[in-house]
Amino acid sequence: MPHAARARRFSRRRLAGVVAALSALLPLGACAGVGAGTGIGETLGVTTASLDASAPREGVPQGDFGGFVASLWPEAQARGVSRATFDGAFAGVTPNPRIVELTRRQSEFTRPIWEYLDNAVSAERVRLGEAARTRYASILSTVERAYGVPQAIVLGVWGMETNFGGFTGDMDVIRSLATLAHIRHRGDFFRGELLAALEILELGKISRGELDGSWAGAMGHTQFMPTSYLRYAVDGDGDGKRDIWRSIPDALASTANYLKEHGWRTGLPWGVEVRLPAGFDFAQRQMPFASWAALGLVPAAGGTLPAGGAEATLFLPAGARGPAFLVTANYDVIKRYNSSDSYAMGVALLGQRLTGGGGVRGGWPRGERMLDAGERLELQDRLAGLGLYDGTIDGKIGSMTRAAVRRFQLSRGLTPDGFADVAVLEALRGR
Ligand code: CA
Repeated sequence: MPHAARARRFSRRRLAGVVAALSALLPLGACAGVGAGTGIGETLGVTTASLDASAPREGVPQGDFGGFVASLWPEAQARGVSRATFDGAFAGVTPNPRIVELTRRQSEFTRPIWEYLDNAVSAERVRLGEAARTRYASILSTVERAYGVPQAIVLGVWGMETNFGGFTGDMDVIRSLATLAHIRHRGDFFRGELLAALEILELGKISRGELDGSWAGAMGHTQFMPTSYLRYAVDGDGDGKRDIWRSIPDALASTANYLKEHGWRTGLPWGVEVRLPAGFDFAQRQMPFASWAALGLVPAAGGTLPAGGAEATLFLPAGARGPAFLVTANYDVIKRYNSSDSYAMGVALLGQRLTGGGGVRGGWPRGERMLDAGERLELQDRLAGLGLYDGTIDGKIGSMTRAAVRRFQLSRGLTPDGFADVAVLEALRGR
């Protein structure tokens, strides 16, 4: 998810006309379970290039809506959904044209990561987060003990997804998912989510009228997709229900459980900002913390790097001229919520701020011009032409593009920081 957030984009539309101050509070996140390797931008953007050539055209309904709903029944029935639940779920439901329109928009994620993080860790979000941390201190401690996931990370996800419950989405999840499934947005993904939503109704844990979420069907305080709800939601307050919509203990415990089940390693930090030694060789990329320490890397905040043999990867979100981080396997677990690095850094840095850590010490290259949408497409196209990139040419700079940039830089004797900037594009153009 996005690179920016489908939730945010949707919210912007919804709140058009509302005072600008609100924009700093809009959620940035995007839905547990939308899938590893799928950024928010990919969810939102037009991704025809990634679809099977024989598949129906993205965004084009296959048959009428009534026929589509009828076609769901055998699968729903096989999952134990009753006819009464099924009929009740779809009574009066029509496609939502606004959602169709949203899926056709190109990703708006053109902002550099520092602007995204300015919003993620804004003074207002930190203020709300500090209040939430104080108010729910006991729950957060309980969840941390039970699942081994630090409260900083759980808080970070909660803050990024819904601004600590400030905006959880008020759209009819059945209608949203049915609209997206009908047009086969992202193939069969939303059909599966819709069937899962019917199962949730059959379980009776929430009533038809209360099944609300984002326009893409993400639900509750920490924006679970229906399949994630079925697999990972837990009862945090002991009342026998898994109510991620209204129970904050349930939502926070479910988030921690999601991260635990996706491989969170207790006791391992997500990462640490570091200071690189003079003359650092940027060809180094992954090794144990102890080896990084031996090379002269130190935490930017002072002290020493974590001891032990845990592997850490050097991550330079804004290239060699920006802050440097060593990130661990737990950073990748955060990306199971949303595969965008901006999002994962937002979760990590917001959580850090809310639990006594500071902000980013290194300076961002704020004055630098970023590549525009056409230039990002050209960059990917040129990298693909050199056999260095085999991902989608979609203008979204994710980990695959960064790796390709890095390969190109290494091949040309440039500083291999993986940052897709103007200089890299110029070098690709042969200038
Ligand atoms: Ca509960």
